[in-house]
Amino acid sequence: MNKQDRYKHFVEYFSTHQPGAETELHYGNPYELLVAVILSAQCTDKRINQVTPALFDRFPTPESLAEASVDEVFGYIRSVSYPNNKAKHLVGMAKMLVDVFNSEVPATQDELQKLPGVGRKTANVIASVVYEAQAIAVDTHVFRVANRIGLTTNAKTPLAVEKQLLKNLPPDVPRIAHHWLILHGRYVCLARNPKCEICPISWFCKYYERTHTEAALQKAETLKIKKVKDQKKKAALNKISKELKKRGGNNG
Ligand code: SF4
Repeated sequence: MNKQDRYKHFVEYFSTHQPGAETELHYGNPYELLVAVILSAQCTDKRINQVTPALFDRFPTPESLAEASVDEVFGYIRSVSYPNNKAKHLVGMAKMLVDVFNSEVPATQDELQKLPGVGRKTANVIASVVYEAQAIAVDTHVFRVANRIGLTTNAKTPLAVEKQLLKNLPPDVPRIAHHWLILHGRYVCLARNPKCEICPISWFCKYYERTHTEAALQKAETLKIKKVKDQKKKAALNKISKELKKRGGNNG
């Protein structure tokens, strides 16, 4: 199957089966989503959803977070990964929102990336989820799953994956394809043990095609070797049995 066919089947399958895929982070407005996405770097959405209710209660606006001390914010997020850095980033981000962006979350990737703690991936999430830009944020799931399915080729960096996906996906698809790939990676195409046996898209997955064709060939080869060995064994036994008969005849 060629790459274009894989893209076609990918879009068709997920448009039909997950037309409403969306982020699993809990948020009520763009500011809260920005906070949640910054916190979610190298951490699970489940963990972030556990800490954000109290955090949003205490700091409901950019202004309130901008006035907070890093230590106080740290107290609310100590159970997420890299809490020290993230606490600093959150306070810095809120200060810049207030001072530079009139307390509004900016809409463009360039402006978003000026905020502390906001890299290309986070900027793409905000731009696509809040402002419906056709951007595609590449996290570890997107990177892995796109490669396994065969949507990307030799893409060594998140930026390379992003470019290949944007080039090949229909123009109205990237923002939802991001969620399709994340959810598939989170629940089916797991990093260490992808659940290929129950995966509904294995029929157009390159990884499946490669690994299962190889496995099937290996199995056939093993059976062939066994058959040859069995035949040789049978021939040897026949020979011994004939020899024994012959000797028995001579003795009689
Ligand atoms: S078949 Fe396996 S590798 Fe391919 S997408 Fe499904 S789970 Fe991932």
